[in-house]
Amino acid sequence: MKKTILPILKILSKKYPSNSRTTLNRMRLKPNPFKVLIACLLSLRARDENTEKVSKKLFAIADTPEKLIKIPTKKLEKIIYSSGHYKKKTATLKHVTGELIGKFNSKVPKTREELLSIKGIGPKTANIVLAFAYGKAVIPVDVHVHICANRFGWVKTKTAEKTEIELTKVLPKRYWKELNAILVQFGKDICDTRSPKCSICPISKYCPRINVKRSR
Ligand code: SF4
Repeated sequence: MKKTILPILKILSKKYPSNSRTTLNRMRLKPNPFKVLIACLLSLRARDENTEKVSKKLFAIADTPEKLIKIPTKKLEKIIYSSGHYKKKTATLKHVTGELIGKFNSKVPKTREELLSIKGIGPKTANIVLAFAYGKAVIPVDVHVHICANRFGWVKTKTAEKTEIELTKVLPKRYWKELNAILVQFGKDICDTRSPKCSICPISKYCPRINVKRSR
């Protein structure tokens, strides 16, 4: 295990305790596989605040695949408009929901292979569902996890998929599920993908800042 893993995670878990986390993370505390999946699809390239508002609005009308599929396309576009990329997301929600109903008896599948067999569900979404809806030991890797893990020197990888594989080799299992929630918040707050705020970073003494070209 890399020497800095425990000190960094100790500091960041304290800074971002689970009850302070936003949207998806709060939703993850009370897991409903369908809601976890749909909220994750809505959160792609969206701000947490918007995802939260849009998810609430949508789940008030449709909290099952059967109810969601019945929403007319134009109405669904309107409901999820503020999550951004609303046309593409509407198409994805419709397709994913149709697949759940048609192929999985209206249930969200419990395996990575089955989840990835549905167009619109990528590795990060699949892992978020497995980790937060089904409590499986996987590491959901998004851009924040990928960039931070490389900056910390925990991994040396070019893609999120590779990062996931390498992290499973160095990170103690008890941190797998939480890592995403912690680093997403840390990334949004301090370790910005383009220009990290190293001058106010609480873990700067443990971070070798690998590949950081510009910082604040
Ligand atoms: S020192 Fe800079 S690069 Fe390293 S974790 Fe902190 S903000 Fe990110």
